[in-house]
Amino acid sequence: LRNADVAMYRAKAKGGNAFAMYDPAMSEKAMEMLTIGNRLRSAFAKDEFVLYYQPQIDLKTGQITGSEALIRWRDPEKGLIAPSSFIPLAEETGQIVEIVDWTLERACVQTKKMHDAGFPEMDISVNISARSFSDKGFAGRVADLLGSTGLPAQSLILEVTESILMQNIIEGAEVMKKLGALGVKFSIDDFGTGYSSLGYLKGLPISQIKIDRSFVMDIPADNDGMLIVSAIISLAQSLRLEVVAEGVETSGQREYLEGLRCDKMQGFLFSKPLPYDDY
Ligand code: C2E
Ligand code: MG
Ligand code: MG
Repeated sequence: LRNADVAMYRAKAKGGNAFAMYDPAMSEKAMEMLTIGNRLRSAFAKDEFVLYYQPQIDLKTGQITGSEALIRWRDPEKGLIAPSSFIPLAEETGQIVEIVDWTLERACVQTKKMHDAGFPEMDISVNISARSFSDKGFAGRVADLLGSTGLPAQSLILEVTESILMQNIIEGAEVMKKLGALGVKFSIDDFGTGYSSLGYLKGLPISQIKIDRSFVMDIPADNDGMLIVSAIISLAQSLRLEVVAEGVETSGQREYLEGLRCDKMQGFLFSKPLPYDDY
């Protein structure tokens, strides 16, 4: 019965309306989730998360126009842990909700500080999750946060990956419209990896798309990859969306993107993500 229970949770995690056959690996996975769940809880209690910022550069002016907030976990024993090692697990345990809230609050407070220090044009991009869409209180909490920090709604860009948006389009549209009405902007992250339905994109308050790093990496070696980049940029231009290229590492990539009139770039060529004090 215990094993059947484990299998039932797996079926529910797949979104319900599914079946799952018990496999011993599932118990290991359940143990792993319990462990990571406890470790994440203690990381919050001990204030071990830190927010890094990576600048985005406007290609026309060469100026920094904003930054993306990227979380890291400073574990006293293991050092700095990358988000790819805990975000997917936090999505499964549900702790991603706290992570998104923590990141949003930190990012809004620190960006307001940048504005007050004489850089009022700085935008801030924050990654949200699938749970942000099913979470009924999300839009209200973002609105309250803007009120309490004094950050203009127009300076906040919420990034949602293309696949998450497509899998949660109904709830997603509702949240996006509520926040869009306040002036908050939305950006589609990892664009090109998630089979967007363009019809859906049209009706939503989306102002930006970010070309996934895997396509940018193909410049200049892979012709198909380069064609995809060029097709995404012209698609964005005809839909009047801003385009950001992610993961720009070489000046060759920069020149190719400049030639296609890509709007903005983010990548190690300009800067790695940096802690607030070094930014
Ligand atoms: P993402 O939102 O697509 O973020 C871009 C990732 O690419 C970041 O990795 C960034 O450090 C990396 N990157 C930027 N430029 C370059 C480059 O030139 N070369 C290479 N090789 N990499 C580059 P990071 O910080 O490890 O984040 C990975 C993913 O974790 C993010 O992907 C995002 O999906 C998620 N994530 C990070 N922080 C948060 C957060 O606060 N909340 C949520 N919900 N997710 C987050
Ligand atoms: Mg992102
Ligand atoms: Mg991305």
